[in-house]
Amino acid sequence: MRDELISEIVKRIVKEMSAARENEVLEIVTEISKDRIPIEVSARHVHFSEEDYKALFGIDAVMSKKKELSQYGQFQCKERVMLIGPKGTISRVAVLGPFRQKTQVEITKTDARQLGINAPLNQSGNLEGASGIHVASRELVMEIKSCVIIAKNHIHMNALDAKNLDVVDNQTVSVRVKSERPITFEDVLVRVSDKYSLAMHIDFDEANAAWYCEGDYGEIVNSSQTYKSQENDRQVEKTSHAEEVSTVSKELLKRKLIVEEDIRQIAKKGIDSIYVHKKSIITPLAKDAIRKERIKVLQNAEERGAL
Ligand SMILES: [Zn+2]
Repeated sequence: MRDELISEIVKRIVKEMSAARENEVLEIVTEISKDRIPIEVSARHVHFSEEDYKALFGIDAVMSKKKELSQYGQFQCKERVMLIGPKGTISRVAVLGPFRQKTQVEITKTDARQLGINAPLNQSGNLEGASGIHVASRELVMEIKSCVIIAKNHIHMNALDAKNLDVVDNQTVSVRVKSERPITFEDVLVRVSDKYSLAMHIDFDEANAAWYCEGDYGEIVNSSQTYKSQENDRQVEKTSHAEEVSTVSKELLKRKLIVEEDIRQIAKKGIDSIYVHKKSIITPLAKDAIRKERIKVLQNAEERGAL
């Protein structure tokens, strides 16, 4: 009797353990599905170049690590700085390590308004058109030129995540934040590197607009095709449009009289410039339609023989 009881207990435990393993596997699978993109909100922060950091904190200053961040090798420092713009200041701004090639300050649109500066919406690392700003430590204030951007939102992932999600590096996708007040962000950049862990990064303006709460997920809603196949489609579209333009042009060059209806048909096909023979007659109504539809008329005498 006792043996039976023990054997029954063992059976149950084994069953529960295998069920737990099954759940574990399921958990991993659901974690990388399109509707379970973890979201992290980036607070305003500064990545310093070594040169600017030492100019601001002293030649012997080293970055003191406060905590590791979710992306491999990135950390937050104990130091904080103040941003000083023409209209206002923002204090206690986080400093992130390690050093970068160039100093990059990432703020929100709201911050930019408060500071009174015009920061562009750029992919992190792209400082084209970036605004300058005064940055202050406890010790001193310095001006850093071309460093302030509003970072475009993006999703970090490794190659395996990208394969499972059917996306590729540098592709853009739309992501719906599944919150109490859902918002779909378009043009979200996919960034693939084996150093990355899966997370979508948005700033506080975006998080607040979407009523983001910790634990809300994002869902990739428009990436049924990979970037490459989209490229191919665009190419095919371009070619077939070019073919259509050329067919229409050849057709028109043969015509002695071009009437309003011809122009209507051309406009409907999305063609914005046409070739006509210089001896062709364009009726006044057709001319009106050309002006209205803003179609460019190029005269071509080369096909004289076709008339
Ligand atoms: Zn990021």
